[in-house]
Amino acid sequence: MPPRSILILGGTRAARELAGLLLADGFSPVTSLAGATSQPLMPPGKVRIGGFGGAEGLASYVKAEGIAAIVDATHPFAAVISANAIAAAKACGVPLLRLERPEWQAEPGDAWIVVPSISAAVDALPSGARVLATIGRKEVASLFARNDIGGVARMIEAPPDSVPQNWTVLRERPPFTEESERHLITHHAITHLVTKSAGGEDTAAKLAAARALHIPVVMIARPAKPPAPACPDGPAVARELRRLLLP
Ligand code: NAP
Repeated sequence: MPPRSILILGGTRAARELAGLLLADGFSPVTSLAGATSQPLMPPGKVRIGGFGGAEGLASYVKAEGIAAIVDATHPFAAVISANAIAAAKACGVPLLRLERPEWQAEPGDAWIVVPSISAAVDALPSGARVLATIGRKEVASLFARNDIGGVARMIEAPPDSVPQNWTVLRERPPFTEESERHLITHHAITHLVTKSAGGEDTAAKLAAARALHIPVVMIARPAKPPAPACPDGPAVARELRRLLLP
């Protein structure tokens, strides 16, 4: 019997879709979620929730569960778990693949200001800016700390801190359409979009809307992840796992 238990480090739509593909291929995927979202969308197959306790904890889990391969399908901005996955795979002698979605590319008509961090994004905003912020909940406090700007912060869960009166929090999940993004930008008199360079189709409509409405985009560059064998999509991961693990 070939080894078939695959650990998917998840928290993304791509990870959920991959779990379905691997099940259909006869693998036994177990998806790991960090536990950051109180009502996560559940992937098919087994699911475990919560941190492992660093790279060593992850390696212990991989050994104890007889995991045959790890797929890092986490968000491009989740850099710690990706580094831990490399270390754990090496310690356990199992293959690691990274599902790495391509970055968005600026198109004619775009006005992107590319910055290296959230704090640089906050600094790039002029006084009086009306911002649409799509950077999640964990780091939104640095935007809220500026009392000369305001706007809309969109996230899945409510932010940990209180929301200043010049900000509106929208709790919504992707996907979004260009039409709804245009309406949001116009309705809230948005002057700047602040986003992470996440890539993917689910949240790309805001970029098209910003282009159409001539709104500058403050684009936060991805953190560097240590190199790992990468696949651009779920089917490529499934093919590679078949090649590596099946006779
Ligand atoms: P991170 O900074 O790379 O990881 C921080 C810690 O969270 C890790 O050391 C690990 O704890 C735990 N962790 C992260 N992902 C995990 C997973 N899939 N399963 C089990 N434990 C996990 O990660 P993050 O940026 O906080 O992101 C957390 C999760 O949210 C990820 O699954 C990611 O895919 C998802 N997400 C992140 C973003 C974002 O912008 N960062 C956006 C959308 C979704 P231990 O060391 O204790 O194992």
